[in-house]
Amino acid sequence: MSAGVWFRKCLRLHDNAALTKAAESSDSVIPFFILDPTFDRSKIGVNRFHFLLESLRDLDEQLRERYNSRLLVFRGKPAEVLSELFEGSGEFRLGSLFYERDIEPYARARDAAVEDLAKKFKVPTMTFSGHTILDVDLVVQAPGFKPPIAMSSIQNLVKKHGPIPKATGAPKYLPALKVKGGGHKYDVPDLAELYEEEPTERHLMPGGEREALARLKRSCSDKDYIATFEKPKTESTGRQGAPWEPSTTGLSPYIKFGCISVRKVWHAIDDCLKGRKHSQPPMSLHGQLLFREMFYVLGASVPNLDKDKGNRMCKEIPWGHNQKVLSAWEEGRTGYPFIDALMRQLVQTGWMHHLGRHAVSCFLTRGDLWQNWTAGRDIFDKYLLDSDWAINNGNWLWLAGVAPWSAPYFRIYDPCPGPKTSLNAVHSADFIRHFVPELKGMPDRFLLTPWKAPDDVQKAAQCILGKDYPKPIVDHKSAREGNLSRFKAALESNRTGSSSKLPEKFGQRK
Ligand code: FAD
Repeated sequence: MSAGVWFRKCLRLHDNAALTKAAESSDSVIPFFILDPTFDRSKIGVNRFHFLLESLRDLDEQLRERYNSRLLVFRGKPAEVLSELFEGSGEFRLGSLFYERDIEPYARARDAAVEDLAKKFKVPTMTFSGHTILDVDLVVQAPGFKPPIAMSSIQNLVKKHGPIPKATGAPKYLPALKVKGGGHKYDVPDLAELYEEEPTERHLMPGGEREALARLKRSCSDKDYIATFEKPKTESTGRQGAPWEPSTTGLSPYIKFGCISVRKVWHAIDDCLKGRKHSQPPMSLHGQLLFREMFYVLGASVPNLDKDKGNRMCKEIPWGHNQKVLSAWEEGRTGYPFIDALMRQLVQTGWMHHLGRHAVSCFLTRGDLWQNWTAGRDIFDKYLLDSDWAINNGNWLWLAGVAPWSAPYFRIYDPCPGPKTSLNAVHSADFIRHFVPELKGMPDRFLLTPWKAPDDVQKAAQCILGKDYPKPIVDHKSAREGNLSRFKAALESNRTGSSSKLPEKFGQRK
């Protein structure tokens, strides 16, 4: 009987233990993906779905070219699809199942149900670690484990559980798949079948393993760039000059979908550093991957990491909820051009530079709008090409100032950053004008603060504030002061357990 390889993330041939082991243990392998209706248009922006389909197509093409096999795309709820595959009531029957483990709560629940089914049908399963540099399940089960909340603690865990395994290559041989009837029923679908909208042309990150490997090669061909990489000292505009092309490696969407093995990335960076003076964690590229690992370990060990209550990694703050304010932030209508350009970039392209993410998340939460970080997290989750449960939650907790690894809550970013700011993420005038075309005619000196432009300047720029472009949604200075005292009062009330009345919240205003 056939061995099934269930692709979920890990959309690659290299360093894919499930695929390699299935190929070794069976003379018939069925590689498949399940299009789960839980993840529909309401939850996933068109650019990310497009990226996923491109990655599936790349996988399918490679399976055909290399092994005379193919990827089968089934549709439906995974438990129902797999029940049919275990039973053999449809075209295919699985005698065993191989897949990579996933720590996300949805995946954990889905996989537990699938394991129960497999037991019922007496189908053996084999699962593997591969989405992180360590096997995080082993890490959290080890005696004496403590959740890491700083770079030094994740470095210690990596030291203790290392060395980091080398990435393996693609399997040499994969038994060809013979599909009865062979039709197009199980082909990777076209986007138009699932989405009415088109992906943006400016989305310059095509999905797939081959593109991921080429990107890694491009980044690593500049060894000085890798060796001197320091965050936050990365330019916010693209290395190639295009405002939407990242100045950092741009690997995150590929790592998120597992088009590239994070262990491969780790060792490729390592090779570039050999014999060179280089930056160190937390700022270095290895440091970035260690933050990722830290959030994965936390995701696998801290209950409710994605909640603002019942989460021991989250200080409770009485955030407000104001849908109008949230929508203005999401749609880039806050009246702060820097924030609006970044949010429109996110919605239109699925990408935003790391420091841009800092700016807009601080603005939404403790900085200006006093909205719950979970609401911002959900909006990021919908649009980001690289949206990743553990990393998105870990970073939102960080930026909202509520986590043990957060910077002090009173370090608030200026939404109109001048040339020298702690954010170090000043976007060019071109970037602002590109994403906020209403401001095309606004002179440079008023571009970040158009409300300061005199009436005649607004008229000449064909941008009247309040008509062509919104007036600022809040006054930054007073919002900042009010939020600082609210945050301080909340911390004090958490500490003393007192029920002292907190100052009025922005978000509660009608
Ligand atoms: P590089 O700087 O080249 O780093 C290499 C890799 O390291 C990245 O691809 C990524 O896998 C990892 N990495 C980098 N920064 C971080 C970080 N701060 N935390 C964890 N891992 C990191 N990243 C995601 O991949 N998915 C998300 O959903 C996500 N949500 C975020 C939300 C907020 C509010 C913030 C502030 C950051 C978020 N990040 C997220 C982290 C970071 O912004 C992106 O990983 C990074 O910008 C991706 O660009 P890059 O691949 O060029 O990164």
